Amino acid sequence: MKTYPVTDIQHYINGEFTDGVAGKSFQNINPFNNQPINAVAEGFKEDIDLAVAAAREAFDHGPWKHMTVQKRLSYLVKIADLIEENAEEISYLESLDTGLPISQTKKQAARAAENFRFYAEMVKSRLVGEAYQVDDTFINYTVHKPVGVAGLITPWNAPFMLETWKVAPALATGNTCVLKPAEWSPLTANKLAQIIDQSGLPKGVFNVVHGFGETAGASLVAHPDVQLISFTGETTTGSEIIKNGADTLKRVSMELGGKSPAIIFEDADLEKALDSIIWGIYSFNGERCTSNSRLFVHESIKDQFIESLKERVQNILVGDPMDAETEVGPLIHRQHFGNVSRYLKIAEKEGATIVSGSIPPEFKEGNYIAPTLLLDCTNDMTVAQEEIFGPVMAVIPFSSEEEVLRMANDIKYGLAAFIWTNDMKRGHRLAQSVDSGMVWVNSQNVRDLRIPFGGSKSSGVGREGGHYSFDFYTETQVIHVAIGDHHIPKFGVKKHLSANGIEK
Ligand code: NAD
Repeated sequence: MKTYPVTDIQHYINGEFTDGVAGKSFQNINPFNNQPINAVAEGFKEDIDLAVAAAREAFDHGPWKHMTVQKRLSYLVKIADLIEENAEEISYLESLDTGLPISQTKKQAARAAENFRFYAEMVKSRLVGEAYQVDDTFINYTVHKPVGVAGLITPWNAPFMLETWKVAPALATGNTCVLKPAEWSPLTANKLAQIIDQSGLPKGVFNVVHGFGETAGASLVAHPDVQLISFTGETTTGSEIIKNGADTLKRVSMELGGKSPAIIFEDADLEKALDSIIWGIYSFNGERCTSNSRLFVHESIKDQFIESLKERVQNILVGDPMDAETEVGPLIHRQHFGNVSRYLKIAEKEGATIVSGSIPPEFKEGNYIAPTLLLDCTNDMTVAQEEIFGPVMAVIPFSSEEEVLRMANDIKYGLAAFIWTNDMKRGHRLAQSVDSGMVWVNSQNVRDLRIPFGGSKSSGVGREGGHYSFDFYTETQVIHVAIGDHHIPKFGVKKHLSANGIEK
């Protein structure tokens, strides 16, 4: 396959690629062999201060503010074009950096371009105000204005797509932004900076500071000139960010973790359900927020369904992420490999039966975990309650709709749910009763960019996607205009008399 050169990475601040103020860098590691890929500038508070100052200046005084909407959106279309032109390189860099199979990162690059095109269209057609007529006395109308500087903090599991998922609506609505990408996957964030630089976007409108969450990320969250934080990542990090943003009254959008149930009834199309379940947990190396990591199977079909699951799991192609045939690659980082391995030990201790695929011996240097089924689980086990974020699925039998609903909801998360049944009354009934931001009935995780994306309970705060992103990325202002006569109370027209009746 075609390879692309990788150089060391700098921050992108005020339209310039630059080293950090402290001159420090950290090593970026290849998950396939745990060898260094390149050095990445390590950002701290001073770098965040520079990036926020550039974004603030671009918002307050740059050409971005007074540009026509059409001109502003033309930059988004240009960025989408450039992403498409560079799609192969983006997908190569993403697979190199994350271990995600190349066939899957290709689709992510296409989705990223779509994010920009979609928001360019959405702003044109759906960023609309409302007017409230009050008889013949008033017209009250709303306008949506950009909020200011948006802080965007992203994870490593689908880095390029998730970065564009935030950058596109932030820019389309007229904000400026500072992106702090995940430290384990900096390559495509740097490529995005190169593409945006090439698009000619006015300087300071988009900035990237690389670095760690506790330093660069936390400084962005605490910065008084940053109005918004859009965050995708772990639930515990989300709650830390909400606390740290409280002093400066940050508006936050939180897309957090999940432990989503898939429920298979006996009357479902079992072949389709099987395809969807296998894809849902093992694509993206199991590092997918909406993965169906808890599988509930009706007891009447349990044995047959589990046999089919075992067969598929053992046939999944574990391989080099750069190989077009590979279905599962290595986990992002040695540390994450350690976390997932720890959960496999817990599963054993808790009494689960572990069934795994195999890892070819030539891949022993990588962070490989074979696709794994945890059979004989109960919903209260640690491995059924906590997000493992790897190619590991807990399988739990159920006997009735009431029982499975109770188990599906008996968890702190509420991101997604998947229901498989041909009884559509039951499908709708259960879909509406399950606690989750999103439900798919007889479907895998198919995305529609117009829908609200997000989770309930510990899986998120707020919704992004479609016009729902406008609630977050814009300030709604109301303007009251008197168009006729209305009563205005008269204050201060009576003479004030003192107690003895003499004018004061
Ligand atoms: P993470 O929370 O460890 O890190 C995410 C980002 O936050 C990184 O850029 C990190 O540097 C930064 N960060 C860490 N501590 C910070 C702090 N104190 N202040 C500011 N920033 C900080 O998450 P991760 O391990 O990169 O990603 C995996 C998680 O993301 C999983 O839980 C997954 O479910 C979740 N996720 C959710 C969605 C969704 O849409 N709901 C999508 C993808 C991933």
